[in-house]
Amino acid sequence: MVESEAHKKYEFKRTLEALSDKHGRGTELISLYIPHDKQIHEVSSQLREEFGQASNIKSRVTRQNVTGAIESLLSRLKLIPKAPVNGVVIFCGAVDIGANKTDMQTFIMEPPEPLVSYKYHCDSSFLLTPLEDMLHEKRTYGLLVLDRREATVGLLIGKHIEEMSHLTSNVPGKQRKGGQSSHRFQQLRLIAINDFYTKIGVAASEVYLAVDMKDFMGVFIGGPSPTKEEFESGAYLHHEIQKKILGLFDVAYTDESGLHELFDKLGDALQDLDVVKEKKYMERFMKELVNDTGLASYGEDQVRKNLEMGSVDTLLLSDELRKLRLTIKCGNCTNEEKKTILKKAGEEYQPLNCSKCGSGMKIVESVDIVEELSTIADQMSTNIAFISNDFEEGNQLMSAFGGIGAILRFKTGI
Ligand code: ZN
Repeated sequence: MVESEAHKKYEFKRTLEALSDKHGRGTELISLYIPHDKQIHEVSSQLREEFGQASNIKSRVTRQNVTGAIESLLSRLKLIPKAPVNGVVIFCGAVDIGANKTDMQTFIMEPPEPLVSYKYHCDSSFLLTPLEDMLHEKRTYGLLVLDRREATVGLLIGKHIEEMSHLTSNVPGKQRKGGQSSHRFQQLRLIAINDFYTKIGVAASEVYLAVDMKDFMGVFIGGPSPTKEEFESGAYLHHEIQKKILGLFDVAYTDESGLHELFDKLGDALQDLDVVKEKKYMERFMKELVNDTGLASYGEDQVRKNLEMGSVDTLLLSDELRKLRLTIKCGNCTNEEKKTILKKAGEEYQPLNCSKCGSGMKIVESVDIVEELSTIADQMSTNIAFISNDFEEGNQLMSAFGGIGAILRFKTGI
């Protein structure tokens, strides 16, 4: 089964990439963002105003292209009585298709999140940033690691861990120097500890309060015992943040590496975050490989064979995978071949002559490899996981395994 959320997100990302490759010769590509509550007739009347203004454009070609795009938009709008719940985005314009030619193209998208503001934008490329922003995981967690000597304040934003602040103390060690009374020494030490916790609380609160509160999910605190417990019970954080402490975890390090150590311990607490799911798949894949259990498969051909046999439990696809699967047929005999090429090479690719009769071969079908493999996976009830490049193991899937891997249900020797 396709994980539909992940698949939709992936498709959305690909669509934006495709749109970002499109350019106009001049300032003539129009992006129209219509939120749900915007009246379509208002949009139409604004477009007619833009149409009037476009007559002032000096370049004849640009003028024609802009007015042509606006006319096309106006006729599209007649088919939309009301923008859908998340609004609608229409891209329209004379796209440069090379060889000194342009082509009037229109793309309509329903964004995955509600549009906030109406936008009419005319430029040499389409305006994509409002949509691109929707791709980013915005959920944010505070990560704080501390002991009595050192503290690091961090944020987990989507899939990234960022160190925001690092503090050290001059809290004396437990051994007092000669000449000091024990009682006095302990008192000074407690004051120094309290001062340091206060400093940490201020620094951390400052960082966490700066996060948009609707995206801020809470704070995890790591450190040795009893430091983190002392810090929590002493309520050193701003009260709004103190309320959002989600858990305490034992970690050994309190520098930046402690943030990563803490993150690795969160496991169950963050089950529903994409990066945690993706990490789990990659860990499982690597474990099967390292232990040589025969339950991990990689490489396009091996994975495809396993998929077709129904032996794949989870198909791992890097979301950086950009390849096409071609079907190539001989014009003379019945020879048919399959070939995978990089998407970039797509336009210039010329098939070799037929290996059987030497005649010319031609491409009869070209499919995105992700779609090709997903289709086989669906038929075999195989789970599909899209793995992003944003974390170390995810990056490895692309760089070391060509972006395609599989966790198998049983050993196949392939
Ligand atoms: Zn042939």
